Amino acid sequence: MTVLALEIATSWFAVSEIASDVDTDDVRRIPVPARGAWEQCKELLLEVAGGREVTSLGIASAGPIDMAAGVVAPLDVPEWRAGFAIVAAAQAAFPKAEVRLALDGVCLALGERNLGTTQDVMDSLVLNVSDRICGGVMVGGFVVVGRTGNAGHLGHVLVPGFDDPCECGGRGCLEAVAGGAAALRWARAQGWSGVSVPELVEAAVTGDEIPAAAMRRAGTALGRAIASVAALLDIDLVAVGGLLSEAGPVLWKPLNEAVATHARLSFLSGLRVVQSKLGPVSVLAGAGVLALTAPGG
Ligand SMILES: [Zn+2]
Repeated sequence: MTVLALEIATSWFAVSEIASDVDTDDVRRIPVPARGAWEQCKELLLEVAGGREVTSLGIASAGPIDMAAGVVAPLDVPEWRAGFAIVAAAQAAFPKAEVRLALDGVCLALGERNLGTTQDVMDSLVLNVSDRICGGVMVGGFVVVGRTGNAGHLGHVLVPGFDDPCECGGRGCLEAVAGGAAALRWARAQGWSGVSVPELVEAAVTGDEIPAAAMRRAGTALGRAIASVAALLDIDLVAVGGLLSEAGPVLWKPLNEAVATHARLSFLSGLRVVQSKLGPVSVLAGAGVLALTAPGG
């Protein structure tokens, strides 16, 4: 039995063999290629399979996706933006495998529920805040998938007080303020000269004024979005992971203040917002859960 997990992220493809969990050391990553995306993705899968017959493959993809059709249309993979039938392609490459596809946020929620931060609760929200924002929702112990597989697009929840243009075509979305790429754009527009999100986070941690202001905006926007979703779904635990979650108090203080200001209803008094324990393998771990629950897994 060979079980693989594949993550289609915003800037890389990652593959890992799944035993009972995902070990960071076992993860193979390549940058999203400009051309030949599937060919390189398949090559990576074949390398990890190492000639063994793959029995099950779980795919976590950045959205949007069409889960029923097995199609992904991630904004950051140019060749696939109009839709790529990844399940059919993977099925052709691994004819004996059970292939399952879910949104990255859905996999994030599965990973955190089975292996990570939200194992002990029934109602939770999980967020990964890196270049973009992915999110997943668990209600009553079930991860919410949605009609087309796209539930949990937390990055496009509207945040009061902000009107930044979003890449989705709308304005004032959480991702347009608190996504790493957007925060970087904002900081550069204010005159900061750094060029990458890790650099932005590091500069904010060391107290560089503009990056710190970018993290404060991000923290405030995250807190407001979290308070809204927690009230909507009666949630008591929120786990935040990803690059920006590592910015420390400069992000977490305004985040917690915004939650305290807005989450005032009595049933939200115990709302906890914590850093994710699973770290960078959380989505891939969820793709592993997806693969292991497939009939062939
Ligand atoms: Zn948007």
